[in-house]
Amino acid sequence: MKVSNKNFKNLHILIVGSGVIGKFNALELSKQGFKITIADPQKKKNSSSAALGLLIGNMYQKSKGRSWELRKKSNELWPRWIKFLEQYNNNLHIEKPLIQLTTEQKNFEKLCKFISNHPTRGLRVLERDSTIIQNINKIFNMNNLKGIISGEDGRIDPISLLKTLNIFLKDEKVDFIKDKIIKIKKLNNQWISTCSNKLEIKSDVIILCNSLDALKLIDLNIHDIKLKPVLGQAIEISPSKEEINLLSLPKHFNINGTNFIRKNNNKIIIGSTDEYDIEPKENTFEELTDFLENKPKWLNKNNITDKWLGIRSRPEDEPSPILKSLEKGLILCTGFYKNGILLAPACSNWVSDEIANHLL
Ligand SMILES: Cc1cc2nc3c(=O)[nH]c(=O)nc-3n(C[C@H](O)[C@H](O)[C@H](O)COP(=O)(O)OP(=O)(O)OC[C@H]3O[C@@H](n4cnc5c(N)ncnc54)[C@H](O)[C@@H]3O)c2cc1C
Repeated sequence: MKVSNKNFKNLHILIVGSGVIGKFNALELSKQGFKITIADPQKKKNSSSAALGLLIGNMYQKSKGRSWELRKKSNELWPRWIKFLEQYNNNLHIEKPLIQLTTEQKNFEKLCKFISNHPTRGLRVLERDSTIIQNINKIFNMNNLKGIISGEDGRIDPISLLKTLNIFLKDEKVDFIKDKIIKIKKLNNQWISTCSNKLEIKSDVIILCNSLDALKLIDLNIHDIKLKPVLGQAIEISPSKEEINLLSLPKHFNINGTNFIRKNNNKIIIGSTDEYDIEPKENTFEELTDFLENKPKWLNKNNITDKWLGIRSRPEDEPSPILKSLEKGLILCTGFYKNGILLAPACSNWVSDEIANHLL
C-alpha cells in the first residue's frame, strides 16, 4: 500500500545510515512526498561502496520462502527504478548476462536440474565447448568448467548507483546531516534523535538502516536482535599487456562461488571473502584464488593493484535481512549480509508499505 502525497506530505522521516539501503529508502519515500532527512557521519567507506554489484536474482536456486519472495520483488522493481534513475544518470544500467560456473560435476547436474524445473527464469546451460567456456578455460588454465548463463541477471556498478541516488536526493532537497545518531527516544508521539554534536532531530518515523550499529540505538532488553559482523574483501589484479589480454572474458562471472569482474583488457576484480571478524585476514589473494589448481602466471600477488573491504551485518538466529517494526514509528531495516544491492528495491518497498500501516 502506498501513502498518497497529499495526506502525509508534512510527515518527517529520519533515515539513519546512507548506504544503499538508507538511500533506496529515501528514494522510495521522497518520491511519495514525505519530508526526508538522512543522517550519516560518512567518515569511512561503507559496505555498499565496497560491493561488487552483482544482482543474482533468477539464478537463485530456490523458488519459495521469504528470500526468494524478496528477490522476486527486486527482480520486478529493478528495471522500473533503472528507467526512473536514468533521468539523473543515463549511464546507469544493469549489465547482463550473468554466468555461473563450476568444476564439480554434482553441482553442474544440480544446476541443470534446476533449469529444467524452472523454464521461465531465463536460464540456459552453457555447453563445455561453448566459446565463453573455452575462453575462460584458456585464460585461467582450466579444462573442466561447466555452467549456466542467466539472461535476466547482471551487474550494476555500485559507485555509479550511489552517486546517482545522491543526485536524485539532492534534486529532491533531501536533508543530509553528516553526523552520527547516538540516541533515539520517543516523546509524545514524536521521535527525538540526538546527533553526536548534540543536535536534536524531531521526526514522526525513524528507519534504522545503519547496519551493525542499529543495535546501539535500540533497547536490547526489549528487542531480542543479534547481528554479527562479516567482513568481505575484494582485490583488483592488473596484469601487463605482455602477460595477458583479458578481452575475451565475459564482463562478469562466478567460478565455484568466487566472482570475477573484468574492468578492461588488463584489469579484473576478484571477490569476495566471508570473514567472521572485524580485522581483515592477510591471505586474501590465496583465499580468493586457491581453488584454481593450476594458477596462470598472470594471476599472481605482484599484479594486485587495489584491495578493499566492507563490513556487513549478518543476523544471528534469524534470516537475513531484518525487516521489522519495533514500535509505532520505528522501523529496522538491517542485517544485509549478502545481496544488499540486489534486495534494496524490495526492502524499501516493504518499508513504505509498513509506514503506511503505521500511519493509518
Ligand atoms: C566486498 C563486498 C562485495 C559485495 N558484493 C555484493 C554484490 O555483488 N551484490 C550485492 O547485492 N551485495 C554485495 N555486497 C553486500 C552489500 O554491499 C551489502 O549487503 C549492502 O551494501 C548493505 O548496505 P547497508 O546500507 O545496509 O550498509 P552500509 O553500506 O554498511 O551502510 C550503513 C551506513 O550506516 C552508517 N551508520 C552507522 N552507524 C550510524 C549512526 N549511528 N548514525 C548514522 N549513520 C550510521 C554508516 O556510516 C554506513 O554508511 C557486498 C559486500 C562486500 C563487503
